[in-house]
Amino acid sequence: MEATVCPLCAADEAEPLFVGRDVLFDFPGEFPVMRCRRCGLTYNNPRVPPDEIHRFYGADYHAHDAMSPTSRRCGTAETAVPQVDRRRRGGRAAWDRVERFGGARLLDVGCGGGSYLARMQGRGWDVLGVDPMPRAVESCRASGVPAMLGTVPGVDLGGRRFELFTLRASLANLPAPRATLAALREYAAPGAVLIASAFNSDGWLARRCGPLWPGWDLPRQYCHYAPHTMRRLLETTGWRVERLEFRRRPNLARRAARLMAEATGRRMWRLAASRRWLTSLMSTCCAGMQRADEICAVARAAAERAPVRTANV
Ligand SMILES: [Zn+2]
Repeated sequence: MEATVCPLCAADEAEPLFVGRDVLFDFPGEFPVMRCRRCGLTYNNPRVPPDEIHRFYGADYHAHDAMSPTSRRCGTAETAVPQVDRRRRGGRAAWDRVERFGGARLLDVGCGGGSYLARMQGRGWDVLGVDPMPRAVESCRASGVPAMLGTVPGVDLGGRRFELFTLRASLANLPAPRATLAALREYAAPGAVLIASAFNSDGWLARRCGPLWPGWDLPRQYCHYAPHTMRRLLETTGWRVERLEFRRRPNLARRAARLMAEATGRRMWRLAASRRWLTSLMSTCCAGMQRADEICAVARAAAERAPVRTANV
């Protein structure tokens, strides 16, 4: 384990919140979570060093499973900059509502098995994935999706520029989020869009369940974002937040209810754990109150680049 300062504001004044465990894979260990007194970011401290975190990914880690690509018709570049449809029909995430933009370039950070990139490739995007897990990169390449092994900053992207960047649930897994987002800003074409999501540490379930909320995903997630810390992270690294969306995650709510039922035996959690409609309703209500389990930010490259203060934050 290594000690760290706040990955968002570099302060070293944090208050302990709780000591959690791995509720997803049951890897042994105790993982302290703290909250920065200066900026309010919740983060692991001490934490697993980034070059050892691969030991905490189980063989069945969901994001790295290969999925068959679906083919879609190709689009053509019709607008100068990408636009994200504001209408959220069918619960589709923002990264699946980017208007068709054939030939434009998309970089997916933490690309996992590549099913999303295969889908975007089918829509005419020129795609590239980056992931630190060899298994994920192999899976992408096997399905015809170009991918690089490594992290940003770190991988050599040459002089390439991108119109769209996506960090689908990978924001929280970045050990140095400021450095990553500032580096992405350097690779941004004019008017580029960045879409990033993370579980909401200020959500209703996170508050109710405490250490047992599965959204902490300890120790794999280094930082745990609330709406204000996610906004601050983006706006201090060269991105202008256009909006935050709140996504319902009924499966996460179900897992939370099961863990709470086991730990407390309380009737409310037992009921929620055994009735899908109840956790689904719970998720919908939380999203309506902006207390959902997941936050998704849609941001655009700001005209001014932001300086990065130190190498590791
Ligand atoms: Zn801080």
